[in-house]
Amino acid sequence: MAAGSHATAAGQSLPTERSTVQTTETLTRLRTRLIGEHDELLRQLRELGGEGDDGIDDPFAEEGFADTGQATAERVNLLMMVKSLRDILREVQAALERMDAGTYGICQRCGQPIAEERLEALPATRLCISCKRTR
Ligand SMILES: [Zn+2]
Repeated sequence: MAAGSHATAAGQSLPTERSTVQTTETLTRLRTRLIGEHDELLRQLRELGGEGDDGIDDPFAEEGFADTGQATAERVNLLMMVKSLRDILREVQAALERMDAGTYGICQRCGQPIAEERLEALPATRLCISCKRTR
C-alpha cells in the first residue's frame, strides 16, 4: 500500500536566518530518506509486535519473570530490539519535526549548522560532529 502524500507549501519560503543544509533539493532528499526509514521502522516494529506505546514494554513488570528460562531470554532480546527500534524511530520523527519547524540541520547543543555530509550519513542526527566528539 502506498501512502499518498500531498505536495504542500510549494511556493512557501521558510525564513532562513541561519543558512544550513537547507537547499530545497538536499532537504527534500533527506526528508524522503527519513520517511522511508520511518516506514521501515514501523514495519519492523509491527513484525515484532511492538507497535504502539503500550503492549510489550517492561519485561520485569511481568509476573514469573525469573522462572521461565529460555523463553524469557528470547523475550528480553525481543524487547531490547523493540526498544532500540523505538529509540531510532523517535529520533527520525524528531528530525522530521525539525524539518517542519525549519530547525533541521542545526546542532541542538551549540546551535551551529551541521555539516551536510554528516546529515547525508546520519539524517536523523541532532548534534554536529564536534559536539558529538566532545560528548
Ligand atoms: Zn554542535
